[in-house]
Amino acid sequence: MRGRLKTLLAFILTICCYGLVSPTTFAAVESLPRAEQVPGGLAIVRLDSTRHHRAPPLVHFENERVMVVAHEKEWVAIVGLPLYLEPGEHDLRVQWSPENLKFHTIEVKNKEYETQRLIIKDRHKVEPTEQDLVRIRKESRKINVALRKWTEKIKVPTEFIKPAEGPLSSVFGLRRFFNDQPRKPHSGLDIAAAEGTPIRAPAEGTVIATGDFFFNGNSVILDHGQGLISMYSHMSRIDVKEGDNVETGQMIGAVGKTGRVTGAHLHWTVSLNNARIDPSLFFPDVNVLTSSPGDRQPVPTEAEVASAKTAEPVVNNGAIERSAQPAEGPVSEPEDETLPAMEEPDTPNEEMLP
Ligand SMILES: [Zn+2]
Repeated sequence: MRGRLKTLLAFILTICCYGLVSPTTFAAVESLPRAEQVPGGLAIVRLDSTRHHRAPPLVHFENERVMVVAHEKEWVAIVGLPLYLEPGEHDLRVQWSPENLKFHTIEVKNKEYETQRLIIKDRHKVEPTEQDLVRIRKESRKINVALRKWTEKIKVPTEFIKPAEGPLSSVFGLRRFFNDQPRKPHSGLDIAAAEGTPIRAPAEGTVIATGDFFFNGNSVILDHGQGLISMYSHMSRIDVKEGDNVETGQMIGAVGKTGRVTGAHLHWTVSLNNARIDPSLFFPDVNVLTSSPGDRQPVPTEAEVASAKTAEPVVNNGAIERSAQPAEGPVSEPEDETLPAMEEPDTPNEEMLP
C-alpha cells in the first residue's frame, strides 16, 4: 500500500515539475515562416530539444514576449525584428525555469529599403488640425494596444494565405518622404484591388478591434495567438465584430479607400512580438503573394515598380491611384489637387506630431 502511495506521489510530483504543458498538449507546427534577420524581418531561433524540456520556455526580445512553437522535436522561438532595430547582435532572453536563464544571440543584418518620395501639394491634407490630432492620438493608443496583445494559444498559424486578390502596390519597409519630410517607413504591405474585393482572414484568429480610424479608415485587427496580430485598413465594409472567431479564408470585409488614401487598396499590417514585420515572410512560396492570377491585365514587373519607387522627385507615383488598373505603367502624370497615393503610418510617432 505504502509503495503504491509513493508511486502516486512521485507521479504527481513529476506532473507538477514538468508543468501541465508538454509537447503533446503544445501543438507542434509543421512549417515555419521564412527567416530574414533584418529590421522588419524575423529570426527563427532553435532553443532546445522537446525531450530535454517538456514545457516551452518564457522567451523575451526587446522586453516583449516571443512566440515559441514545437517543430521537429525542438522548441523554436519565432522572433519579430522591429524596423528600428540597429544591425548587429541582439539578445534573446530564454527562461526555462526560475533558475535556468539563457541568452541566445540574434545577428541582425542591415537592409536598405527603397525610398519613396511624394510631393503633396495640398498641405493641409498632410498636416492634421489640432482637433484631428486629439483623435489621432486616441486611435493610435487603441491600435497600439491591440497590436501588442499577447494571448496564450496552443495552436498558432505559421503560414498565411493571401487576404485579397490583386498585385502588390507598395512593398513593406519603403522609406517615405512626404514633401521632403521623413515619415515612418511603410510598416505594412499594400495589395491593389478594386473597391468591394473580398478581404479574407489569412489564418484563423479572433477579432480584437474594429474601428473607423483617421489614417487607416475602416479597420479590423485579428489576434492569431502568441503575439501574432494582423490588421486590415481602408476597408469599404467590415463584416465581423469584436470577439468573433474567424477561420482561415473567412471573409472579414471588403477593400475600400476609407481613411487617408485616394485609391482603393488593402493596407495589411502584421505584428509579431509588437514588431511590425514583412507579411510576405509567412508565405512559404512568395510567388503566391506576388502573383495575381485573377487579373485580366498584366501586373507591372518588379523592375518597373522599383523604378517608380526610386524616381525622384515623384509628384505622384500613382501606385495606389493606379491600383485598379496596374497595367497603365508605374509612373502616371500627376493630377492637380489630388492627394497622391499615400497613407499615413498606422501608428504615428508621438514626436512626429507637432
Ligand atoms: Zn500601405
